[in-house]
Amino acid sequence: MSSRCAVVQGIGEMREARDRARRAGRTVSFVPTMGYLHEGHLSLVDVARRHADEVVLSIYVNPAQFGAGEDLDEYPRDLERDLELAAARGVDVVFTPSDAEMYPEPQTIWVEPPEEMARRLCGLSRPRHFRGVLTVVLKLFEIVQPDVAVFGRKDYQQAVLIRRMARELQLPVRIETAPIVRESDGVAMSSRNGYLTAEDRPAARALSGALMTVRAAFRAGERSGRVLGERARNVMQEAGVLVEYAEIVDADDLSPASEAGPSDICVVAGHVGSTRLIDNAPLAGSCSLDDSEE
Ligand code: AMP
Repeated sequence: MSSRCAVVQGIGEMREARDRARRAGRTVSFVPTMGYLHEGHLSLVDVARRHADEVVLSIYVNPAQFGAGEDLDEYPRDLERDLELAAARGVDVVFTPSDAEMYPEPQTIWVEPPEEMARRLCGLSRPRHFRGVLTVVLKLFEIVQPDVAVFGRKDYQQAVLIRRMARELQLPVRIETAPIVRESDGVAMSSRNGYLTAEDRPAARALSGALMTVRAAFRAGERSGRVLGERARNVMQEAGVLVEYAEIVDADDLSPASEAGPSDICVVAGHVGSTRLIDNAPLAGSCSLDDSEE
């Protein structure tokens, strides 16, 4: 296994690398990230490998998806470490574009998420977040031109919107998703977990704890989406989480589920100290939480 991967900074150079792969008859899969890589990101690389001959991973902290007062300036970065981890996992090309290249002029054309999704769940507290995500992902797709792109189900609403964008804009890319990777105590891995202090940890654990409680209640026969959502909210609140939302929703369109079914999911978000955390799990069937269940 190579200990280095190609690092490409320029958009032109990335397009050339893509053209070379195409001429050689090699398919490309793509893993967009904001860097500060962890096992969650690297699990996407494993999925990407299975779907194509070459894996391109981008590292770009996209200013357009951060709101005023969010952590754009403090967002953790460690490119050297990221390059080592990416190479060790078999990434072929790491694409690290600059702001100047990604946004050479003020952005006035945006990919807007549908209204009913933009104002729900994460969109409620982050009203311009998803248009920033969709716009940068479309730009990255245009540059990398992947056959397949892989996204984590940790950011479930994002994955749903990207799938919808690819379908409605008829983009020639197949979207794959991958399960949530967790720390040993059940906390979903995130680049932002480094913000958590030792005192924050019990509250951080309460997000996955809430999901386990809801899965157990569903198994025991509870079917009211409202009651299940309340259960999740209570578990988080009791642990000191400032709850943003705790809901049972349809896994495909994220509409609220009043009568919960096995294919619905529980989605939660909240603040622990200064850190905003999100998590989700299906109400039934296997999920990465099972490893941490008794
Ligand atoms: P980010 O760097 O946070 O923008 O994440 C880049 C990609 O990694 C997104 O598709 C995320 O959903 C995915 N991802 C982040 N954390 C995890 C995790 N714990 N498990 C699985 N995928 C993840």
